[in-house]
Amino acid sequence: MSRLGWFFGAVYDFLFPPLPVCRFCGARKETAESECEACRDEWATLKVKGKQKKPYACFYYDGVVKKAIWEYKYSRIEDLADFMAERIAEMLKSQKVKADVVSFVPLHRTKRKKRGFDQMQKVAEAVAAEMGLPAARTLKRVKRTRTQAKLTAENRKQNVKNAFVCDKNTKVSKESVIILLDDVYTTGATMSAATEALKSAGYAKVIPAVFATSKANQ
Ligand SMILES: [Zn+2]
Repeated sequence: MSRLGWFFGAVYDFLFPPLPVCRFCGARKETAESECEACRDEWATLKVKGKQKKPYACFYYDGVVKKAIWEYKYSRIEDLADFMAERIAEMLKSQKVKADVVSFVPLHRTKRKKRGFDQMQKVAEAVAAEMGLPAARTLKRVKRTRTQAKLTAENRKQNVKNAFVCDKNTKVSKESVIILLDDVYTTGATMSAATEALKSAGYAKVIPAVFATSKANQ
């Protein structure tokens, strides 16, 4: 766009600010909330309620929840880290989860470089701050795995086998109770592989917690 075009565009936006859009579906909305009413209602119906089984989870991985995570992966909506962190901290508090440190299932280095940051690290830091706990990296992803979504349950297990090792630079003590965060839990293959890596390094107390879980797990 020419400089003049840019200038008139900026003036137009100033005079007629674009209507805010829902961060989950992109629909225009009238309220100050960051999501539209339809999405907010649907998120509410997908909330995991009552006492939980492992892993701890905020939402069922379905409908608008699934869509938002998917859209985020393909960079069509803004970063979900803050939203995920608020919901996860709120849920862990309501379930009265006690721990010493908040950690996360990391991305592989190449993926982190491509994206510029590790979303779950951001989530872990925000959840830790919210709960008054330290956040720490405990794992390293040493194998570049394929996207789990396209694989069968058995292939998922193979795909993430030996994908993680304990980060030898971690300062987390072996006695610590660790909350281990990930975004989605479906067959549990990734979370199991990550937990196993910590257990074989001597960490016995790992509490898995996720933003979204498939209905079959609860
Ligand atoms: Zn919406």
